[in-house]
Amino acid sequence: MTHAQTASELRSFDPATGEVIGSVELTTPEALDAAVARARKAFASEWARDARLRADVLNRWADALAAAAQDTSSLLLRETGKVRAETDLEVAMSIDALRFNAGIARHVDGNGGALPDGSIAYVERQPIGVSGLIVPWNWPVFLLMRDLAPALAAGVTAVIKPAPQTPLATRHVVEVGREAGLPEGVLEVVYGGAEVGRGVVTHPDVRAVAFTGSTEVGKEVMRTAAADLTRVLLELGGKGVSVVFADADVDAALEACARNAFLTSGQMCMANTRILVERSAFESVRDAVVERVRQLRVGDPRSPDTDLGPLISQQHCERVMGYIDLARRRGCIQVGGERIEGDGNGAFLAPAVICGEHLDEPLVTEEIFGPVVSVEPFSDERSAVAMANASPYGLASAVWTADVDLAWRVARGIDAGTVWVNRYNRMFPEIPSGGFKQSGIGRTRGLEGLRQFSEIKHINWALSPAPG
Ligand code: NAD
Repeated sequence: MTHAQTASELRSFDPATGEVIGSVELTTPEALDAAVARARKAFASEWARDARLRADVLNRWADALAAAAQDTSSLLLRETGKVRAETDLEVAMSIDALRFNAGIARHVDGNGGALPDGSIAYVERQPIGVSGLIVPWNWPVFLLMRDLAPALAAGVTAVIKPAPQTPLATRHVVEVGREAGLPEGVLEVVYGGAEVGRGVVTHPDVRAVAFTGSTEVGKEVMRTAAADLTRVLLELGGKGVSVVFADADVDAALEACARNAFLTSGQMCMANTRILVERSAFESVRDAVVERVRQLRVGDPRSPDTDLGPLISQQHCERVMGYIDLARRRGCIQVGGERIEGDGNGAFLAPAVICGEHLDEPLVTEEIFGPVVSVEPFSDERSAVAMANASPYGLASAVWTADVDLAWRVARGIDAGTVWVNRYNRMFPEIPSGGFKQSGIGRTRGLEGLRQFSEIKHINWALSPAPG
């Protein structure tokens, strides 16, 4: 049980002030069983067979969410402490995920043909069954929709568990969906922390689990899912890195790197946490990053002047401070890293830049998940790729250069699910994304996203020989 949890309810806090903003009922094991049973019953209905119905419902949900965009964005701001530009973007991306997947719901995915023994092979994809979706708090509505929209498009029914920090935004978007026509049992919500999450993963009637969260918990999810061979889709931590060559449009690189280092106050799996700079440009880039970060304003996320809101909790801030203290002891902090007083009990932190060669390993290999970016020099292409690949993560990265061949070579050399060239943090519902190494297993988005929630079946048909 956490401070936010009593025996029967889960309270949600405004991270900017520490105020309680609402609560939901904690899901008991019996209520979880009942939710899975309803989802199972709904899976046996028209829902799993009628792609037009699914496309129609997803489109109506997208329309309803667009109509409720302001309220949804405000609730997200209140519950996550993110600034308005980010919560507006989160709602827009969620609507886009629903619309894209409404379109591909009707795609007929399979094939068929004659086999050498004269029989016919018919290969079709069938929805896998009741699926559990477990979501983190940083982009709670979008990360839900990113995986849920393809899951529903594929024809599964779902039991979702939001993070304990963000139950209200999730409850709200689900209500919007139900009012827009989500049939009974197609989408069930359960509330709680690790216990309830484990209950979803180990439930014998849950056939697939899509988990987005930390690598540590992702490993536990995989271990527990193994008991029943439940399929897992794991979208885990990251240590995003940009490799900036001296011939790049350095201003554009700087602008994108600094912005994407501090989105959601750095609490982003895709955050650009490291900037590797070719040695000849290192000092000027470092100074420009420091100057830019000095100008960022930290404070009340409701204010239009604010660039960075609070961290999600004091406890999380303590964890981030551990990395900042390490950097301070090593004398490599260039700017930031101080706690900032807010009006209430919010955990505000001045964005920090750490610089130098051979920074301590935890700083460049571990996910800090806070407003900290490192700037490090590299000597040549080979060492740049080696440095970019030095962490156990492989989620997001970028290469910045005007040299086309160099860009291709480096992009191919970096172990990451996404490598941008001369840009950062652009995601598309059309294109699969996910992690190499300890950043995850499986892919979301695109047709791959839908396929995660299907089983392949081969129906083999023996033809009798032609008479005569
Ligand atoms: P977390 O791993 O602590 O929790 C994620 C979810 O798992 C929550 O809903 C939590 O209640 C639940 N959970 C906790 N223990 C569980 C268990 N044993 N079994 C089942 N469920 C359990 O992560 P967080 O702090 O909410 O989010 C931050 C992390 O998420 C960061 O590591 C970040 O990189 C990662 N993340 C990844 C992506 C991506 O797409 N790759 C996106 C956003 C966040």
